[in-house]
Amino acid sequence: MKRVFLFIQPYKLAIIIALFFMLTELVVELWQPLLMAKIIDEGIMKKDMETVQLWGSFMVGLSFIAFLSGILNSFYAAHVSQSYGYDVRSFLFEKVQAFSFADFNKFSSASLITRMTNDVTQLQNTLFMSLRIMMRAPLLIIGGLVMAFVVHVKLALILAVVVPLLFFFLVYLMNKGGELFRKVQEKLDIVNSVMQENLAGMKLIRAFLRRNHETDRFLDANKQLMKQTTYVLRLMEVTMPILLLLMNVSILGVLWIGSIELNAGGAQVGEIVAIVNYATRITSALSVFTFIIMAFSRAKASADRITEVLDTEVILIDCVDALHEGPQSGSIAFQNVSFRYPGTQEYVLKDIHFTIQPGEVVAILGATGSGKTTLFQLIPRLYDVTEGAIMVDGKDVREYSQEALREAIGFVPQEAFLFTGTVKENILWGKETATMDELIEAAQDAQIHETIMKLPHAYETKIGQRGVNLSGGQKQRMAIARALVRKPKILMLDDSTSALDLKTEAKLLMALKKYTCTTLIITQKISTAMQADKILLLQEGEISAQGNHETLLKESSLYLRIWESQNGKGESYVETAK
Ligand code: ADP
Repeated sequence: MKRVFLFIQPYKLAIIIALFFMLTELVVELWQPLLMAKIIDEGIMKKDMETVQLWGSFMVGLSFIAFLSGILNSFYAAHVSQSYGYDVRSFLFEKVQAFSFADFNKFSSASLITRMTNDVTQLQNTLFMSLRIMMRAPLLIIGGLVMAFVVHVKLALILAVVVPLLFFFLVYLMNKGGELFRKVQEKLDIVNSVMQENLAGMKLIRAFLRRNHETDRFLDANKQLMKQTTYVLRLMEVTMPILLLLMNVSILGVLWIGSIELNAGGAQVGEIVAIVNYATRITSALSVFTFIIMAFSRAKASADRITEVLDTEVILIDCVDALHEGPQSGSIAFQNVSFRYPGTQEYVLKDIHFTIQPGEVVAILGATGSGKTTLFQLIPRLYDVTEGAIMVDGKDVREYSQEALREAIGFVPQEAFLFTGTVKENILWGKETATMDELIEAAQDAQIHETIMKLPHAYETKIGQRGVNLSGGQKQRMAIARALVRKPKILMLDDSTSALDLKTEAKLLMALKKYTCTTLIITQKISTAMQADKILLLQEGEISAQGNHETLLKESSLYLRIWESQNGKGESYVETAK
C-alpha cells in the first residue's frame, strides 16, 4: 500500500494548494448557517433590514470566494491525479518490461493489463476525489459538529451521539468493501483474459466452430463479474437509506427539543434553523462519505494489486561489475548445463555439454518437447541456468550486462511477431540506426525483399495488427531480416524456416554464409540440419549425439531413423541449394 503513496511525493506543493482551496471552501460553507442564524435572529425577527442587507451581502461575497476556491481546487486536483496516474502507469510499464520470464509466470497478461489500466484509474479517481471532496466530507462533519456546539450545546448533543455511530459504521463498511472489491477486480481479470484470448484466437474459434462455446465462456465470466459487483454495490448502497433514516430522526429530535427550548426561552428560532442546517449539511457530507468509502474500498483493492506488481523482485539482474562490452567472436560453450523452469521440479535440460566455434553453423534437432527452445532461451539469458554455466567468448553469460549480451544476438523466435507499423519500421526494430542500404541487404538475405517490393507501398506498407496481412512464411522472413540487420555475432533461428519452401530455405541458408556469425538453427528438418557444421541431437533434455551429418549417420541410431523417415527430401534439398 505504502509504495503507491510514494508516487504522490513530487506533487506535494500542488496538493497543499488544492487542500488550501478546499479548506477555504469548507470554512465558507461552515460559516453560512451561522450567518443565516444572525440574519434571522438579529435581522428578520427584529425587522432590521439593514442588518439583513449587511450580512446578506457578506454571505454573497463569501459564496463567491467559495466558488473561486472550488474552481481552483478542481484545477489542482485534476493536475495532481492525472500526473499521478501517468507516473504510476509509466513505472508499472517499465517494471513489467524489466520482468524476467519467470516473473511473467506470476501474472496473466490480462491481469497485468487490468492492473496497469483499470486499477491505476481507480487510484487516480480516488486521489482526485480525495483532493476535491474526500477531505471535505470528514472535515465538514467534524466542523459542522463543532459549529453546532457553538450555536447551541443541548441541541448539538443529539448530533454528537448519532454522527460518531454512523461514522464507525461507515469505517467498518470500508474494510469489508476492500475485500469485496478485490474480488470484483479478480473477476474483471477473468473477463479481460477471456476477451483477450478470443481476439487472439479468432481464426481458430471460427475454424473449429467454437463460437458458441466461447460466447458461453465469456457470458459466464461476465455474469460472475456482474454478480460480484452487484453484491458489493448493494451492500454499499444499503448504507445510504440507513444513514438518511438516522439523520432524519435526529433532525426531528432537534426540532422537537428545539421547540420545547424555544417555548422555555432557552433557544432562538435562528439557532434551531442553524442546527437543522448543520444537520442537513452533515447528512449530505455523510452521504458523500459513503460514496467515498466505496471509492476508497475500491482504491484499496487496486492499490494492493498494483503493489503486488511493484513488489515483484526482478530475479534476473546484471551483476555489480557487469561487462558492458558484448561478445565479439561468438563462441559458445555449454558446461554441464542443467535447467528447470522456476517453480517446477522436473529438469528440462540435463547435463548439457558442448562447444561451438565462432562462425560455425549448428543445427539442433530433436522431438517436440525435447528442450530445444529452452536451450535457446538460456543463451540470451531469458532464463538463468539452474546448474552449470554457459560461456560466450569464454565468459559466463552472467558476467555480461544483459544489454551487451543481447546486443550481440539476433534472435528469431518460433512464432514471428510483427508490430503494428510499416515494413521498414518492423525491420529497423532490430537496429534503429541501420541505413536504408543495410535494411535492404538484410531483407534480400532473408529472401523477403522481392515480396516487399510487390507490396502496395513497398517498405512503407503498413502491416496490420500482428502482421495479419502477411503469410506465415513472409512473417518468418521479416523476423529473420529484423535479426540480420543487427549484424549479430550469434544468430539464433528457432524453427524459423519451418514455413518456407525448400527452395527459399536453401537460398536463405546460402545467404547466411556471408555473415560472420555463429548460427544456431532449431529445426525439425534433417535437410536443414545436414547443411550444418555440427548437429546436436536432443532427446528428453539430454544430448544423445553430436557431430556432423556423416558422423551421426554412423553413430546415432535415432538420427539414422529420422534420416530414413525424411530421406529423399534431403537429397533433393541439397541439390536445390547448390
Ligand atoms: P522443444 O522446443 O524441443 O519443443 P521446449 O524447450 O519448448 O521443447 O520444452 C521442453 C519442456 O519444457 C517441455 O516439457 C515443456 O513442457 C517444458 N516447458 C516449456 N516452457 C515452460 C515453462 N515456461 N514453464 C514450465 N515448463 C516449460
